[in-house]
Order: sequence, then structure tokens, then C-alpha cells
Amino acid sequence: RSTRPIMRPLLLYTDMQQEAQTDTYLLEADLRAALAAKELSVQYQPKVSFTNGSSAGFEALVRWNHPHRGQIPPELFVAIAESAGLIGEMTEWVIQTALRETSNFKGCESPGVSVNVSATMLFDPCFPFVIDSAISMWNDDYSRLTLEITESLLMENFEGAFSLLSDLRQKGITISIDDFGTGYSSLAYFKRLPVDEVKIDRSFITNMTQSVEDQRLVEAIIDLSHKFDLQVVAEGIEDEQTYDTLRAMGCDVAQGYYISKPVDAEGLPLWTSEPLESQYN
Ligand code: C2E
Ligand code: MG
Ligand code: MG
Ligand code: MG
Repeated sequence: RSTRPIMRPLLLYTDMQQEAQTDTYLLEADLRAALAAKELSVQYQPKVSFTNGSSAGFEALVRWNHPHRGQIPPELFVAIAESAGLIGEMTEWVIQTALRETSNFKGCESPGVSVNVSATMLFDPCFPFVIDSAISMWNDDYSRLTLEITESLLMENFEGAFSLLSDLRQKGITISIDDFGTGYSSLAYFKRLPVDEVKIDRSFITNMTQSVEDQRLVEAIIDLSHKFDLQVVAEGIEDEQTYDTLRAMGCDVAQGYYISKPVDAEGLPLWTSEPLESQYN
């Protein structure tokens, strides 16, 4: 009887691990099927310029509405896609879909779309061809595509990423460092990075109203980025106070629930018409 309390947690732990593992396999099979059956979708989160409130494009965010489990968080199934070798197929589908669903705005001074690219995909030798064929199919305009790459991924293989990103930029693609501030880039790397844009991580933005330190950090990132001619996007803006503070700091582009939650493709036209200027000035 006295050994039970020690044994039980151990058994439970193993059971839980087992269960999590089984769950991953099940989801992996479901994801494979979902990709084939086109059960995934893309939502778009609008970005606006701090200077005049006009549209600064959209971030494409993949969605999976599982038939039995409902919405699965992208962080979870993107990781599964990576380990199951499905990330190539998934990323290609997201890029194709995002370009297709935003290509209607060709006529007007059209806002671009940004797509998140994860580690395995960026270094896949097929990646440049995936981009080329999607661009030639949908808009023939590299300048309307932004690739968001997380800072930590960039730092893991800086030399490899360097030439790859330089090639992509050469074509006119915009490169953005996502979740900036969490990946410990050294300032020495900062001056060499072949990127155009920095996205300050949501955690700093969220804490800004309560923390003077976070506020100073954000201001420093904005100033530093501008010294290197990088555009700065703040993501995760949830209230007016944060928006106003960032605007006063000279931040370039705003993204977050305060502006809009991610919307379906049908909701995009609203964000490409002019009247928003007055709403956000
Ligand atoms: P991320 O690229 O940093 O995307 C921003 C996330 O913050 C999105 O979550 C967005 O819905 C959420 N967000 C935006 N504004 C606010 C706000 O004001 N408050 C709060 N609380 N959240 C906000 P989501 O869509 O769940 O995506 C999570 C992550 O999953 C993304 O982080 C990205 O790393 C990854 N992801 C999403 N779509 C893709 C994709 O197509 N490919 C890859 N490789 N990763 C993706
Ligand atoms: Mg992103
Ligand atoms: Mg981010
Ligand atoms: Mg993130």
C-alpha cells in the first residue's frame, strides 16, 4: 500500500505520454486526409499604416476545422505537418490560396499578403520553385508577397538563411522577421540581415501598458530598426492606448484585434477601400 502513491503518478505519466503520442498519430492521419480533401482554409488579418490608416496588406493564417474536434490551433497542426513531412504540401497550398484570394484586388493599388514560412520549408530545395510557380499562376508580382520567418529560425542557420533570403529579396519578395525580440539575435547579425521588415513579438506589445520596461524595449526596437531602414510592424495590438503609444513612437504598421481579428476572404474588400482612413486617424 505504501508504494502506491509513488507508482501511480509514474504510471499515469506514462499513460498520458502514450495518449499524447497516439493523439499525434491520429491527428497526423487526419491532417493528411484534410489536405487531400481541401478541409483547410485561410483567414486574413488586416494590417494598417500608422501614418494614414490605409491598408498595409494582410497576414494569411491557416485554419483547420476538424470534423469532430472543431478548430485545431495552427501552432499544433503546423508542428504535426513538419514532423509528418506534410509541411511542403501545406505551405504550397497556403501560398497558392493566399495569392488567389487576394488577387482580385489587382486593379487598385493593391495590398500584399504575407505568409508564414517554417523552418523545414524555408530550407527545402523545392521552395523557390513553389514560390515561382505560385507567383506566375496568380499575379506575376513578387512585390506583393511577404514571407514571415521567425527570428529563432533565422538565427539557427544564419549562413544558410542568408543566401536564400537574399535570392528571394532579389526577386522583389519582402522578408519579415516574425516574433522579433524573442530569438536573441545579436546586434552583429542585425546589421547583416537580408530583411525588409521586423514584426515585434506580441508578448512585448501586450505588456506595454503595464510595463515601462517593455515600452522602452519596443521603442528601442523601433528606433534600431529604422536606423537600418527596416519597416516595423507591431502585432497583437488590442486597445486604443497601445495603438496610440506605438503611433507616437513612430511604428509603421499596426496589426491586432483592435484593428481586426483575422477574417475570411469574403471580408477582404472592406479593407481595401479608402474610408478606413477616417476611422483610424
Ligand atoms: P504569428 O505568425 O505570430 O501570427 C499571429 C498570431 O497572433 C495569429 O494566431 C493571430 O490570430 C494572433 N493575433 C493577432 N492579433 C492578436 C491580438 O490582438 N491578440 C491576440 N491574443 N492574438 C492576436 P494564429 O492564427 O492562431 O496563429 C498562430 C501561429 O501559427 C502564427 O503566429 C504562426 O506562427 C503559425 N501559423 C499560422 N498560419 C501558418 C501557416 O500558414 N504556416 C506556418 N508555417 N505557420 C502558421
Ligand atoms: Mg506571422
Ligand atoms: Mg508573430
Ligand atoms: Mg507567433
